[in-house]
Amino acid sequence: MKKRILTGFIIIFLFSLMGCESKKVSTEKNDSSKINVVVTFNPLRELAEYIGGEKINISTIIPDGTEAHDFELKAKDLANIKNSNIFIYNGFDMENWVDKILDTMDGKTIVVEASKGAEPIMVVESEHHEDEDDHNHGQYDPHTWLGVTTALVQANNIKDALIKADSANKEYYEENFQKFKKDADALLSEYREKFDSLKNKSFVTSHAAFGYFCRDFGLKQNSVEGVFAEGEPTPKKMAELIDYCKKNNIRAIFVEENISTKVSETLAKEVGAEVKVIHTLESKGDKNYIESMRENLEIVYENLK
Ligand SMILES: [Zn+2]
Repeated sequence: MKKRILTGFIIIFLFSLMGCESKKVSTEKNDSSKINVVVTFNPLRELAEYIGGEKINISTIIPDGTEAHDFELKAKDLANIKNSNIFIYNGFDMENWVDKILDTMDGKTIVVEASKGAEPIMVVESEHHEDEDDHNHGQYDPHTWLGVTTALVQANNIKDALIKADSANKEYYEENFQKFKKDADALLSEYREKFDSLKNKSFVTSHAAFGYFCRDFGLKQNSVEGVFAEGEPTPKKMAELIDYCKKNNIRAIFVEENISTKVSETLAKEVGAEVKVIHTLESKGDKNYIESMRENLEIVYENLK
């Protein structure tokens, strides 16, 4: 009797092992039919998802809500990059750790500098904060994903890489890119016309991330923090900002999601403006790239009108 019960247990145990085994095999099979894409941060995820859709598995290196300008790569991230089919980084020195790892790649992974071919905006030295100029950063403004024309260059580079990795689905990627291009062009023509009709072209943000956005639409940004998110402004810079806001009739200070708004709130209070949220797309939201960008354009337009 005892022996029978024991045998029963062993049989049940073996079956449950087999169950696990077959499950594991089937998920691995699903995954391997897709292209494994690793991106450095969320904006590139948005673009890769738009073009790659259901044909790709995607993972992001820099966690949502982290300050991307100061990120440092860990060993497990490097392993993740090396095991991918495609590795996409922003470029223009957004990821200052990338150059070091590219030399160690074995050639199996397709490496994409998403901003390659985009026309850069040079960072003027006077835009840096005087007391925070001791760390290394690039000469280019890295925020290419926040301009519509520059995001189009990025989407095109991503599309080319996907076709290179998976030519059997060329038509699928081309179609998705054409849809993205159509939506992006529609945003450009609609809002260029809207902003053209306005007299007021200046807006204020918490961090100078909207240089490419401004270039696309003939606008001008002034910011509490510089291009590299250096932290709080000096009293002198703050006084200049207050002066600027008053002179330019600034009605809203735009802040990024997940960022401390203390300085922006002080500034807004001082000049009688409101604090409003603008997307930098550095965290995964419930909207796709085009939807987030349309919201940005609309909120800036509404506050300049
Ligand atoms: Zn930034």
